[in-house]
Amino acid sequence: MSEFLVKDGVKNIQKPGEKLITTHCCYCGMQCGMHIRVNEKSGKVVGVEPRYDWPVTLGKMCPKGVTAYQTVNHKERILKPLIKKNGQFIESNWEEAYDLIEKNFKRLQKDHGKDAVGVFGGVSMTNEKCYLVGKYAIQL
Ligand code: SF4
Repeated sequence: MSEFLVKDGVKNIQKPGEKLITTHCCYCGMQCGMHIRVNEKSGKVVGVEPRYDWPVTLGKMCPKGVTAYQTVNHKERILKPLIKKNGQFIESNWEEAYDLIEKNFKRLQKDHGKDAVGVFGGVSMTNEKCYLVGKYAIQL
């Protein structure tokens, strides 16, 4: 085992066969610092560690944040867009999904005016995501 980071005597431990990836939890606006634990052999996410060197949360995360990694490899995770056809969700591809979104946005704006379509941003988004959402909204 090797020590990854040390803050005030508290250590994040990198276990044998695992790699710690430094990041933050994106589930809410707190953006708690964390490391994602990745199995080096399989490349799969196997857990998280709170970052003790993160100045805001000092090694603390809430239950939602420490369990969020379980969605990464969940068997019911949706990895491709689903389009509803004849009452059934059918697996599709991003090109078809974006074409459908654009077509429906245009239809809504034609029927109800330009402001009938909007976008939501939130505190869980990074500055970069907020910038892209703004750029996207201007194009609508
Ligand atoms: S760990 Fe909890 S409090 Fe921290 S960013 Fe994630 S959801 Fe928010």
